[in-house]
Parts: sequence; structure tokens; C-alpha cells
Amino acid sequence: MIETILESIPFYLTILSTVCGGITAALVGGMAIWTFRDIRSRSRDVLAHILATLLVLALPIVGLIVYLMLRPHETLADAYERSLEQEALLQAIEEPEICPGCGQRVRGDYLYCPACHTRLKRACPACHHPLNLSWSLCPYCGTSVTPQVLEPVPASSPSSPTTAEEPAGEPGLESTA
Ligand SMILES: [Zn+2]
Ligand SMILES: [Zn+2]
Repeated sequence: MIETILESIPFYLTILSTVCGGITAALVGGMAIWTFRDIRSRSRDVLAHILATLLVLALPIVGLIVYLMLRPHETLADAYERSLEQEALLQAIEEPEICPGCGQRVRGDYLYCPACHTRLKRACPACHHPLNLSWSLCPYCGTSVTPQVLEPVPASSPSSPTTAEEPAGEPGLESTA
């Protein structure tokens, strides 16, 4: 009885090692595929893709740990989103919303501050878009303009400049019942 058990031990060992080998191969393959996908979402460099995958294949667990320590912090999608946010922030900075003369909030397309009459922007002579005073070229139509320095307009000026702002009020609903 014991002899038959002892004889069958190598057989079971073979099965066990085969199963273990299969599981190990599947795990290493899975790790390699995961690494390849992960590095592809973080880098456009084909060499980095190959090196990271080979590293995990050559040193299954250690290679994966090393990869996790060294991989780029940001995914390409994150980096793209961040660049969009920075662009939006830059645009917000370029459009001043505070009057430099009195600190009152003004709209980005105001040519003059309605409170202190400081000249904020000027209209393009060709297309009448509001331009920053420091600009030397209209970004809307390409007309060259001479940059000007910020000068407060005296409040008592007889030819008081008026911005041709159309009142955005909605037409009154007059019901003649
Ligand atoms: Zn002002
Ligand atoms: Zn223009």
C-alpha cells in the first residue's frame, strides 16, 4: 500500500509542477500585458514600451516593482487635460476683469472703465474688436496698430468717450389687454 503511494509521488509532483508552471506563465504574461498597456498610456516612446515589457518579463515580480517606481507619473490623457487647463487659465489671465484704475470689476470687452473712465482697451480701427493697449497687432484681423500706454481719461472731458455697448436687456413684454 505504502509502496504504491511512494511510486505515485513523482507523478503527482509532475502534475503539481506543470500546474505551478502554467499559473506562473499566466501571471508573468498578464503582468507583461498590463505593463505594456500601462506604459503605452503614459509614453509615446516605442523603446520605453519594449524596455518596460522586457523588464517585467525578465524579472517578473521585481521588474514590475521597479517599473511601478520608475514609470511616468502622469498618463498622456492627464497631461493633455492639464495642458488644456493651463491654456484656459492663461486666457483668463490675458482678459483682465479688474480695472487697474479703481479695482472695479469690468467686462473683458469694455473699452473704458464705467466708474473711473480709465481706458482699458481700444477698438481695432478695422474690425472694432477690443484690443489690449499693449498689442501692436489686431489678433482678429491682422491690422497693425501702435501700442499705447495706459492713461486715465479725465472725467470732466467734454468729449466723454462712450462705449457703444448695446444694453443686453430683454425687450419688455407689453401685453395690451
Ligand atoms: Zn475703474
Ligand atoms: Zn481688427
